[in-house]
Amino acid sequence: MTIERYCSPHTLEEAAGILASGGVTILAGGTDLMPQVHSGKLKFNPVLMNIQRVGELKGISIQGGVIRIGALATITDLLTHNVVREKLPALTEAADHFASDQIRNAATVGGSLCNASPAGDVAPPLMVYNAEVELVSKPNGSMSVRTIPLAEFFTGPGRTRMEPNELLAAVRVPVPKAGTIARFVKFGTRPALDIATISIAIGGVKKGPALYEVRVALGAVAPVPLRAARTEAAMEGKELDARLIDTVAATARDEVKPISDVRASAWYRQELVHNIVKRMLTDVAQA
Ligand SMILES: Cc1cc2nc3c(=O)[nH]c(=O)nc-3n(C[C@H](O)[C@H](O)[C@H](O)COP(=O)(O)OP(=O)(O)OC[C@H]3O[C@@H](n4cnc5c(N)ncnc54)[C@H](O)[C@@H]3O)c2cc1C
Repeated sequence: MTIERYCSPHTLEEAAGILASGGVTILAGGTDLMPQVHSGKLKFNPVLMNIQRVGELKGISIQGGVIRIGALATITDLLTHNVVREKLPALTEAADHFASDQIRNAATVGGSLCNASPAGDVAPPLMVYNAEVELVSKPNGSMSVRTIPLAEFFTGPGRTRMEPNELLAAVRVPVPKAGTIARFVKFGTRPALDIATISIAIGGVKKGPALYEVRVALGAVAPVPLRAARTEAAMEGKELDARLIDTVAATARDEVKPISDVRASAWYRQELVHNIVKRMLTDVAQA
């Protein structure tokens, strides 16, 4: 399909109105979209809508106990913004292992989530911070906003619960409680500029030797980034001693059912999950 119309709205309402008429491809940073189009994996819809001028989609702010990360916040913004660095360090850690400076300057948080790669670096830490996505549309001439937990957003590789007339406007993250500790580890075959072979985010509220409200999110081990409920339950409120850490790492290994692909075999990914969870929890126990 060739592009029949290019538009560049200035407001969210204008963008939602254009989406409501159908046949629209959204362009943010273009770092996923353009390679996918050039490789023939994806075709443009008749209308190409560049959302870069929509002011409401930009910025990172904190208000009423919620951190709002605009869909157009870039990976560089995640690395440099004080609120993210202070309150959401596992997200900064993920940004620090993301591609190169050039890609980080263009790639957006909204684009990463909507691209819905199982190996995307942004989703696991956001899931550990209990993020929700804000979806905006203009179905009957008036604006509509709904939020859904990020953990329920993904339905398959490249697929989400977002409707074709919706746009991801922002990610909302509750300000983490006092005592929250969170870690992110990405493992790739190269130390930099690599897609994750696996990624793991772990978080919770540390009280004494135990973690409470534990959340574990894993990337590149399933068709979607996912929460590991059994692994979380195995350590909830329990003393993180060496024995428990061994049990939790084994639970995580058994809970994931990855595929074998060009990056790693399923067996290797399971071993990575075991070893990295063990290393991360040893670090958390000592923090
Ligand atoms: C060389 C290279 C290295 C990379 N390395 C990494 C890496 O290390 N880690 C990683 O996670 N990813 C990596 N990526 C992938 C990519 O950079 C990210 O997924 C990026 O965050 C996508 O954001 P974008 O703004 O460029 O999205 P775009 O390419 O503009 O859009 C991606 C998709 O989301 C849709 N979309 C975008 N914004 C919205 C919105 N607000 N609402 C609804 N739909 C929307 C678009 O229509 C499109 O389908 C890499 C890509 C390249 C080219």
